[in-house]
Amino acid sequence: MSSRAAQLADYHRAEVLACTRCALHETRTQVVAGSGDPDATVMFVGEAPGYHEDKQGIPFVGAAGKLLDRLLAGIGMTREDVFVANVLKCRPPGNRDPLQSEIESCERHLFQQVGIIQPRLICTLGNFATKLISGRPDGISRVHGCELPLEIGGQNVVLYPLFHPAAALYTPAMLETLEHDFRRIPELAGIAGALPAPAPRVVEEDLAPDPVMATQGAPTVTVTAAPELEPAEPEQLGLF
Ligand code: URA
Repeated sequence: MSSRAAQLADYHRAEVLACTRCALHETRTQVVAGSGDPDATVMFVGEAPGYHEDKQGIPFVGAAGKLLDRLLAGIGMTREDVFVANVLKCRPPGNRDPLQSEIESCERHLFQQVGIIQPRLICTLGNFATKLISGRPDGISRVHGCELPLEIGGQNVVLYPLFHPAAALYTPAMLETLEHDFRRIPELAGIAGALPAPAPRVVEEDLAPDPVMATQGAPTVTVTAAPELEPAEPEQLGLF
């Protein structure tokens, strides 16, 4: 087991799997900490576990997960090549949108995961993950496909916002855009790998609970015109 794998397993066991920081612990079946390669260069961040994830304790195992697998296969990757996590580690009842208070309670887990895994490229899936990681209010319909260099907890990473696969399941135009945006992942992972080496490893206690997401160097965000989107399904509104 690599040292990152051991550190991540320890963190999950000690802090995530037993977490009672918000009321979602009362209704969850299982905590969904994350899965994949703890040494991955590329990390995906979704919104929150759904019904199937809550039952199995693994992220993206339902319909959206099958699409994620297919998109990865399209660029020659598998789930074992990346690490997949969510903003929330516990399922919101009825798959409702995460509450701000839940995000604030849970975000430390995601940032600790980023601190341990040290991915070079973070692909956020949908609005909630994108806003949390970027620290900016821009919605996913505006910023999808626009890479953004960031510093998170002293690490250089490239944020790459993408539509959420659950939204693309119901909207063919969005699926096409998602497939198009996905095709740049290998190139971006290569570029991100050429960034300056990250700062020395930060031990768990040194990470502030709410890391400041500095955007030093004023990275340029190329905001493309929002594509023509079909009306959202009511249950997906939070995904755009
Ligand atoms: N949607 C998410 O955002 N995360 C999952 O794990 C599953 C569906």
